[in-house]
Amino acid sequence: MEAASQKRLQNQVAIVTGASSGIGQGIAIRLGQHGASVVVNYHSDEEGAQATKEQIEAAGGKALVVKADVAQEQEVEAMFKAAKEAFGTIDILVNNAGIQKDAALVDMTMEEWQKVIGTNLTGPFLCARAAAREFIAQGIRKDISRAAGKIIFVSSVHDIIPWAGHVNYATSKGGVAMMMKTLAQELAPQQIRVNSISPGAIKTDINREEWESKEGEQKMLSQIPYGRIGEPDDIARVAAWLVSDEADYITGATLYVDGGMTLYPS
Ligand code: NAD
Repeated sequence: MEAASQKRLQNQVAIVTGASSGIGQGIAIRLGQHGASVVVNYHSDEEGAQATKEQIEAAGGKALVVKADVAQEQEVEAMFKAAKEAFGTIDILVNNAGIQKDAALVDMTMEEWQKVIGTNLTGPFLCARAAAREFIAQGIRKDISRAAGKIIFVSSVHDIIPWAGHVNYATSKGGVAMMMKTLAQELAPQQIRVNSISPGAIKTDINREEWESKEGEQKMLSQIPYGRIGEPDDIARVAAWLVSDEADYITGATLYVDGGMTLYPS
């Protein structure tokens, strides 16, 4: 991974959910390289979270590993408290944690439905609420940022492209798209910016089975005009820019970072 060319996020504190692997890990490392102190949230993969922390520290940044299930209110509250205690403020939330539990509608269990909605939709709500409370109480720290706080949702191209066989996932991301827009409108008067990054196909654990097989890889590539499957850092670079003051006038936007995937009809 190339070094960040400038430290855009010096003295800011970021919470990144699901930062033990994949896109969340990439974002946490990039934010750390840009000078942010990063709360590396994980759910089950402590080793992955420690690896993220080590990479942030190797780049000269600070990191705190915090275990929390984003779907559990008490755990989210405890994570924000730990972040505050360790770093004093919170300036950035990246709602990244997400899961898939695929099944045809007729076979989908309540467990598969509720687990995905809990992690992908309720989790971002709980974290956004905790972050907004903090940002509003804190106000703008003029020496470090023009905004009082920044929230990014890691959504999906499936917040607009339907996805047969994945009704729980596609519904959760459609909900995230509306949550983002509603919160952007609600929080703008308090100078809090809220945006989404919607990835296309990115090589991570969530879709490893697909991209590791030749056939699966070809199928993915056939949906990507730009001709390559994305890497976590393709998303991370955009996230580091979107939470910086360079993007200060952007709120309520969805950036499709997808190699052109959304250009094809579904
Ligand atoms: P991933 O499986 O590597 O990462 C998901 C992370 O979320 C893991 O670290 C996991 O431990 C964590 N997590 C799961 N449940 C959690 C919970 N209850 N509380 C806290 N953390 C939890 O996969 P990824 O591709 O990096 O996924 C990150 C986000 O990107 C997800 O929201 C996913 O929907 C989205 N996304 C991924 C792709 C892709 O192609 N990889 C495409 C579109 C959107």
